Order: sequence, then structure tokens, then C-alpha cells
Amino acid sequence: MQFYSTNNPTEWVDLREAIFKGLPDDNGLYMPTVIPKLKSDFIKNLKQHSFQSLAYEISKRILQGALPDADLKRIVDSAMDFPAPTVQLDENTHILELFHGPTLAFKDFGARFMAKLMAHFNQAEERELVILVATSGDTGGAVAAGFLDTPGIQVVILYPSGKVSPLQEQQLTTLGKNITALEVNGTFDDCQALVKKAFLDRELTQHIRLGSANSINIARLIPQMFYYFEAYKQVANRADENEGIVFTVPSGNLGNLTAGVLAKKMGLPVHRFVSAMNRNNVFAEYLENGDYEPRPSVRTLSNAMDVGNPSNFVRMEALHKIWQKMKVGVAGFSFDDATTEAAVKEVYEKYNYVIDPHGAVGYLAWRAYQHRSKQGSSRKTLKGIILETAHPSKFLPDMERILKKNVEVPEKLAILANRKKVATQMGATYEPFKNFLLEKYAELVV
Ligand SMILES: *Cc1c(COP(=O)(O)O)cnc(C)c1O
Repeated sequence: MQFYSTNNPTEWVDLREAIFKGLPDDNGLYMPTVIPKLKSDFIKNLKQHSFQSLAYEISKRILQGALPDADLKRIVDSAMDFPAPTVQLDENTHILELFHGPTLAFKDFGARFMAKLMAHFNQAEERELVILVATSGDTGGAVAAGFLDTPGIQVVILYPSGKVSPLQEQQLTTLGKNITALEVNGTFDDCQALVKKAFLDRELTQHIRLGSANSINIARLIPQMFYYFEAYKQVANRADENEGIVFTVPSGNLGNLTAGVLAKKMGLPVHRFVSAMNRNNVFAEYLENGDYEPRPSVRTLSNAMDVGNPSNFVRMEALHKIWQKMKVGVAGFSFDDATTEAAVKEVYEKYNYVIDPHGAVGYLAWRAYQHRSKQGSSRKTLKGIILETAHPSKFLPDMERILKKNVEVPEKLAILANRKKVATQMGATYEPFKNFLLEKYAELVV
């Protein structure tokens, strides 16, 4: 299996290189040169597969022998060792709960699969790998948990000071061992810019073997396809095979959405994607008028979606070629915090379901989409699946303020409260960051 760079479609690399480099030298993003279709029988018979089994079949199809089947099977089985259940809200509305992994967010899927794939390819390497991750909330915790105790791999996490929830911060800063947290005095975009700059810094990359683990790493996107199939398996019936199902995706860097589009290209019957945004709605505006105008992110209640320049936008472009096609494939909606809070309340009062702020933005977008399509045509009502991207207890103070009741904290999070935070403070300028890396990993410098 080969990958091209979105900035240079004629230059290809293999899976190993795409994973370890993360970002091509030309500053594009890696994309698969071929997106193979699954057999229609496979889609028809999804119900015969467990989640792990369908994940293995899909990964085998897209990775096309990039690693031995037995190794791939072991990686899939150990990475996807928690479920992705759906919960029905009303006749046509289902929630896909993506928060049953170790850090209670959907990023566990991508992070765990990527970590295990990297560890597999890293066995043959002599030099330690230092993975740089910028996080707006959930990525860092998921990546850290995915890589904890992996031999030969160090992880450095950059997060914007004061802009992640207390629980997220605990997940980022209390693991120790091969995981280092940097608390950056700036925004998520600043963190992302520091990481991007490091990858393009030849002097640094000559000394330290750097790897990426953001949603820009193609290895993150592959496992995120699996749960679209899993959700379809759970809610679709024969009638949905023709019309397809509508997936609503709370969107930030557009990684989750891109994975959905890849799943559709592989043959999943998707009618349309609904991209749900908070006030950081650069992508919604693009869908509306065709102009892509990044701008600094603003802080919202759904902070993992506070992204002003979504990194996977170029992949969405690569998959659709032109704006008109993307507009047909994806509907975009955005909502402010007050509306999101009202939706959290509504979902609880109407359906007795506790939805987190990111999922609530998704709920609003799905309702807006339903409303719009009702006005547009008399076609039969479509079935929708809303991706619930994180467990509500990850945003405890906001959730309890909004619902005026206690929200249950799963054991996995509760035990973090007693661990000690260890983080290094850092400005948003590049040189101190670079020097930190060179000093910290001095013993690795060649
Ligand atoms: C990361 C994240 C998102 C945004 O996902 P993208 O793939 O970056 O679009 C949404 N919700 C939660 C809870 C997240 O952690």
C-alpha cells in the first residue's frame, strides 16, 4: 500500500514511512493512492462480524499486505478491545458512543491502533523515536495512554495552558514514564504550529528521530473508519442499503469526518455527512460559499473542536476534488455555546440521556439537517447516527452546572484525581521548545 502527499501526488511512500514521518517534507498530508472497495457481500453481511473481525477485514483490505496478516490481526485485536455501542434516542436518531476506551474519547481508537502499528514497525529501528503531539484536549491523553510503556518510543505532549478541562489535564500530565507534558502559554493552534515547525526543522530532525501522532498521521484515520461500519451494522436494515445513513460528526480538525468519507469510499452506504461545529466554523463557511479562510480559534464549551485551521481540510479537498462535490457530500452547521447548553438539557429532559457538549453540537446539527431536508423534499425520512465523541464526565464542571445534577464519573477517570501533575511550562515561541527537546533527549542526539 502506497501514500502520496497532497502537495505532490506523484511522490509515493510506503506505510512505514507515512506513519513515521507523519508529515511529508513538502508540508502536505499523506493520503492512500488507492482506496479499495469492499465487496458488497461484506457490507450486506456485516452483522456476521464482531467489531474486531470487521476491523481486521477492513484494515486488511486497505493496508494490502503492508504487514503480515497475523501481526495485523494481533494489532487490531489489542487496539479495538472495547466496544462502540449505539443508543437509540428516537425512531430515526441513534447515538454512537465512542467513549468506551481508556481515556473515554474517540481518539482512543486512532491512538491505540497507531501506537501498536508504530511499535510493530519500530522493532527494526536502532534509534529511539520521539513523538510530538499537539492537543486541544483529548488527543494528548489518548496518545499518551496508547504509547505508555512502549519500548523505544518517547512521547512529548503540548497543550494550551488553561484551555483544557481539569480532567483532561490530569490525563495528560500524570502518566510519567516515557510521557512528557509541555504546558504552552498560548492556543492550540500555537501548539500545532510548534510541532509543525519542529518537523520541518532539518537541524532538529537530523539529531532526533521525530514522529507525529496528531490526526495528521494517516495511521489515526484508518481505525476511525471501523466504527462507522460497526455503527451501520448495528442500526441499518436492508432498506438503508439504498438510501444510506446520515452520519453527524462533531468536527474540529476534521480527522473523524475524513475517516468517515474514506469509509464511504470503501463502500459503506452513507447518504450524507453532517459536520457539526461550534463557533469555530471556518469549514461550515467554506461549505456555504467555497472560500476557505482560516482564522484564530476561539474558546468554547466544546473545546476539543476549537480549531481555526482544520489540519485535515486538505485531505477533504483531496477526497472531493472540487467544492461543489464536497458540498453535496457534507452539510455543515455551527452553534454557539448557549444553544449547545440548551441542547444538553433537551437531550437529558426528552430522552434521559446525558450527552457531552461535543455530542450536543452534533445533536443540534442533526436536528437542523432533518429540519432542512424536510423542507426540501418529501423523500422518506433518513436514519441518522450522531457520533458521541467523549464521555460527559470529561467535562464535569460544565455538565453539572448545565444539568444541575451530579454526573457519574467512571472509575478510569476517578483514579486520576489522586495523581500528581507534572508539566513543563513553555512560551509559544519556537527556540525554547527546540532547545528543550535537544536537552531533554540529549542522550538520543547523534
Ligand atoms: C478531537 C475531538 C473532536 C474533533 O475531532 P476531529 O477529528 O479533530 O474533527 C470532537 N470531539 C471530541 C470530544 C474530540 O476529542
